[in-house]
Amino acid sequence: MPHSTNALQLHMVLFKKITQLQQYLAKAVTTGQQIGFVPTMGALHEGHLQLVKQSLQTTQLTVCSIFVNPTQFNDANDFDKYPITLEADIECLEQQGCHVLFIPSVQEMYPTGVQASQHYPLGNLENVLEGAFRPNHYQGVCQVVHRLLDIVQPHQLFLGQKDFQQCMVLQWLVDFLALPTQIHIVPTVRNTQGLALSSRNTRLTEPQQQQALAIYQNMAWLKTQLKPGKLTALTEHIKTNLLAAGFEKIDYVAICEPTTLTEVQEWDGQTNLVVLVAAFLHGVRLIDNEYITI
Ligand code: AMP
Repeated sequence: MPHSTNALQLHMVLFKKITQLQQYLAKAVTTGQQIGFVPTMGALHEGHLQLVKQSLQTTQLTVCSIFVNPTQFNDANDFDKYPITLEADIECLEQQGCHVLFIPSVQEMYPTGVQASQHYPLGNLENVLEGAFRPNHYQGVCQVVHRLLDIVQPHQLFLGQKDFQQCMVLQWLVDFLALPTQIHIVPTVRNTQGLALSSRNTRLTEPQQQQALAIYQNMAWLKTQLKPGKLTALTEHIKTNLLAAGFEKIDYVAICEPTTLTEVQEWDGQTNLVVLVAAFLHGVRLIDNEYITI
């Protein structure tokens, strides 16, 4: 079903059914095209589009999916309030030059029901940070991405650093399934003031988005304060600052070793770090992270 804007006469092909998408992709693969895949939950912003751009630059056929996966929401309220802007999403993907959009229904994705058919042994990734605060979230993420990878069979998969731990989980999944898919991690896209773009930002008013900037500002402050030794005082200071800025609940502020997400209590001044934050502002859970490279 071609969908085109009048103004630009671009042609993105849109599929709701798996079999039709697979027939289309099979033809492309026989002509030697590499498939790049950008899975999303929609409410697209410049961060998502950056992944699409990278895919367009790296591969010959870019497939984007929009599917608000019910099995990865540990909070029913968050699922109910997840923004849906499908018409606008189609428009901006088309303008970007995306080739294929896949928008399956829940029934199409999970024809036998949403219950998990397998457990993914994620190990410690599921016990720390997002894993600890969002029970079963990564099982749901693996369930949906496993299904999407089976359907699309991409050569390249484009993910955002914004979801740092998710990138690690999905690299684990690709390795676990021994897939030939190569993962590209795209740096976090921020607004001019530093706020990480997120679909959930639309649930905040403009003044509330100004408040949300405190996460970025505190991560930037941390970079100026780091010195070898104990790090707990710094993370505690950031937590105090975020509460003072109006955040009502902080899940974590953690400084970790980037390849394992092991929390670094005492720093030797030589290893690279990543700082990760998750906190609630006006009922919206925001996450962000920054590398601290030496
Ligand atoms: P979502 O729709 O939130 O599931 O995100 C879909 C993909 O876009 C994931 O790989 C995210 O990490 C990525 N993404 C979301 N926000 C950003 C951002 N601000 N910058 C870069 N990538 C992002």
